[in-house]
Amino acid sequence: MADCDLCGVAIPTVCPVKVFSPKFENSYPEGVWKGLCGGCLEKAKQAYDEATESKAAGTFGKCDLCGTKAQLQDVEVDIPSFSKGYEIERKKICMKCLEQSSEAYENKDELLGEHH
Ligand SMILES: [Zn+2]
Ligand SMILES: [Zn+2]
Repeated sequence: MADCDLCGVAIPTVCPVKVFSPKFENSYPEGVWKGLCGGCLEKAKQAYDEATESKAAGTFGKCDLCGTKAQLQDVEVDIPSFSKGYEIERKKICMKCLEQSSEAYENKDELLGEHH
């Protein structure tokens, strides 16, 4: 089992997404792998497409995925909740992570297939 790095859901296979974290810049200059579930990937892709189309500047802050301080876009993800089933939580993600997630989403079937 693996946990999604965004919503925390435990699923058999998460989709690998490469992020560039300033925290790991020295030890992992090539970037680190995060794991996202299909639902979060889709949300991230939508947010990426919307931001690209509207050229939204976003808000400045710290990315919830890689920890970089950058202009961030809102991504609403469904967080599993014991009481309500799901709760919507707004995450702030940088364009770099969104781009990576969007790419991973396009290759989702292939990526997930490889890890079986
Ligand atoms: Zn998720
Ligand atoms: Zn990021």
